[in-house]
Amino acid sequence: MNGMHVSVWLLVLSLSATTAWAGLTIRGEPVQGGLLVAETTPGARVSVDGVEVRVSPQGAFLIGFGRDHEPTSRVEITYPDGSREQRQLSVARREYRIQRIDGLPQRKVRPRQADLERIRKEAAAIGRARHRDDPRADFLSGWQWPVTGRITGVYGSQRVLNGEPRRPHFGVDIAAPVGTPVRAPADGVVTFAHPDMFYSGATLVLDHGHRLSSSFLHLEKILVEEGQRVARGEVIARVGASGRVTGAHLDWRMNYHRQRVDPQGLVPPMPEPGR
Ligand SMILES: [Zn+2]
Repeated sequence: MNGMHVSVWLLVLSLSATTAWAGLTIRGEPVQGGLLVAETTPGARVSVDGVEVRVSPQGAFLIGFGRDHEPTSRVEITYPDGSREQRQLSVARREYRIQRIDGLPQRKVRPRQADLERIRKEAAAIGRARHRDDPRADFLSGWQWPVTGRITGVYGSQRVLNGEPRRPHFGVDIAAPVGTPVRAPADGVVTFAHPDMFYSGATLVLDHGHRLSSSFLHLEKILVEEGQRVARGEVIARVGASGRVTGAHLDWRMNYHRQRVDPQGLVPPMPEPGR
């Protein structure tokens, strides 16, 4: 939107990325996989799609949409004076890349029985870290790419192997040489650091508060410890090719409540190579 041609109509259009009601401001576009930062009256209580969400003392809260969120979302606010407001957001639909691969040997499709117990234990441990609910509103620190490079995998894409749909890919994959520094994309606290997981190799979880977290997979080395507080831009790890991968890259994923959200929605466009 060109700010030089200000007319009432253009002003209305330029507000489309910000939804404002009496006691509620929402920044960003509601879209599947999206995460929005909203603001309401301090002391208000908020539920989104029937689930109560944490509101910071300043009135900031998050709204997240999963990969396949239905076309509308319901936001209910109870103000400190007891009055209530209910609003509906339209959630834009996204198209995801689906890749079908047939004729694979069956043993490559399913993990071996002997590995299943390990996989289950690891999933439970990382799940506990991702479901933590902290009052810190570190997500307000602003966002940056943890690594820059060519994007080789995107949120929501899915493979169908021998006709069996696999779990969608929820991260953004960034190709980078082994050893490249990984920087904290926002402020946070390290809540999980594992040197060698079955699928994801050396894996790190950074908690940004209000049940929002980042996970970094396939690392070469983790440079921080559980419980450590880190600032946006601080080096936390090095890119690797650990776990089940075909090449060195960073896989950055984000969880909000029980949803997976798209990290790419939070950061500016990836800088061109050589800058
Ligand atoms: Zn990946």
